[in-house]
Amino acid sequence: MLYATQAPVDLAALRRNLLAVRSLAGERQVLLAVKGNAYGHGAVDVALMVQRSGCADRLAVATVPEASELREAGVTLPILKLSHCFAEELPQAVRMELSLTVVDETTIRQAQAAAEAAGVTTPVHLKVDTGMRRIGAEPEEAAELVRLVDDSPNLHLEGIFTHPPVSDMADCHDWTVAELQGFRELVAGIEAERGPIELVHGAPSGVILGHDLTGMTLVRAGVMAYGYYPDASTPHTVPLEPVMSLVSRVSFIKRVDAGETVGYGRTWAPSRPSWIATVPVGYADGFSRANSNAGTMLIGGKAYPVAGRVCMDQTMVDLGPDDPTVQVGDEVVLMGAQGDERITADDLARIMGTISYEVTCLITPRVPRVYY
Ligand code: PLP
Repeated sequence: MLYATQAPVDLAALRRNLLAVRSLAGERQVLLAVKGNAYGHGAVDVALMVQRSGCADRLAVATVPEASELREAGVTLPILKLSHCFAEELPQAVRMELSLTVVDETTIRQAQAAAEAAGVTTPVHLKVDTGMRRIGAEPEEAAELVRLVDDSPNLHLEGIFTHPPVSDMADCHDWTVAELQGFRELVAGIEAERGPIELVHGAPSGVILGHDLTGMTLVRAGVMAYGYYPDASTPHTVPLEPVMSLVSRVSFIKRVDAGETVGYGRTWAPSRPSWIATVPVGYADGFSRANSNAGTMLIGGKAYPVAGRVCMDQTMVDLGPDDPTVQVGDEVVLMGAQGDERITADDLARIMGTISYEVTCLITPRVPRVYY
C-alpha cells in the first residue's frame, strides 16, 4: 500500500455496473453523472475510463468548473450541464461545447446570445419541472419554450428532461408512475407539433431500476453506476458492486488501563485493560465525526469499534483485552471488504444520518484515489 490512507477505485466494477445500466436501458443512450467529482470517485479518471471503454455515451456535470476540468484532461464526450448557467458563465460553457440546460425564456435568450457571439450552434436541453419544484419550466410553458428554442438560430434542441423526486422509493411508486406518464404525454404533444426530440430523459437510478422507460431515449445513471441502490426500498433489479473503498493502516498500538479515557473529550474508557490501535484517518479525510464511539473498522478480517472521538487526522479503535494479533502497518478497511466482512457506504450513511451519495462525496481531496 503506497499511502497511509487511500481510496482504491475499482474501475472494472464501475464498468460492470454501467453494463448493468445498459442491460436495463436497451437501445437507449446511457449518460453517467460525474458531478461532485464523480460522487467522490474522481471525475477525470472516471470520465477518461468511460471515454476509452465506451461504457457510457455521455457525461453530466453540475458546474462549469467541473466541465472545464474534464475538457482540460482531454474528455471529448458530450457533456450535459444539468443546471442552467448564469449569463457570465455562458461564454466559457459554449466554448467547451457543453449541452446546456435551459429552464425559461431568459436562459434561452442568454444561451442564444452566447452561442451567436461565439459563432456556434449550441445544443440545449429544456428542463421541465414535473414535481421536484427545484428548477425547470412549468409543464404548461414547455411547448412555448420549445418553439422559442426552435426559433433561435444558434440553438439546437437536443433534449427535454425532468428529474423525479421520489422515483427510488417503493412506497411512492404510483406517484412516480403518474408523474412520468404526464411527462410522456407532454413530450408526445410537443413532438406531434415539431417532430421528434433526440434525447428525452427522466430516468436517474430510481427510474432505471424500478420504472417503465417507455418514451425515453436516454437514461441518466448516477449512484447505481457507483455501486449503490438509491434507497433500500428501490427494486434491486440488477446486482451492483461498490466501486470505491477507503483504507488505511495501523500506525500505533498501546495498552490502556481500565477506566483510562481515550481521545478528545475523554468520552470513552474501557471497563477492563484494553489494546488501542491508532489509525491515521479522520474527519479531514471524510471519515465523519459521527463515527465517534459508533463506527467500526476492519482489521485482519474482524470488525473493531471506534474508541472515543474521531479526530481530524487520526482515529482510535478498541482491539480488546487480549494480546493483539494486530500489528503496526496492518491494513484497516473503513469502507469496503476485508475477509468475510464488509462495510458499505450505506452502513456509514446510517451512522451519519445521511445517504450513500453523501458518504462517497465527502471523502476529501487529501485522500489519494488509487485506480485499478
Ligand atoms: N439527473 C439529475 C438531474 C441529477 O440531479 C442526478 C443526481 O442527483 C442524477 C441524474 C443521477 O441520479 P442518481 O444518482 O440517483 O442516479
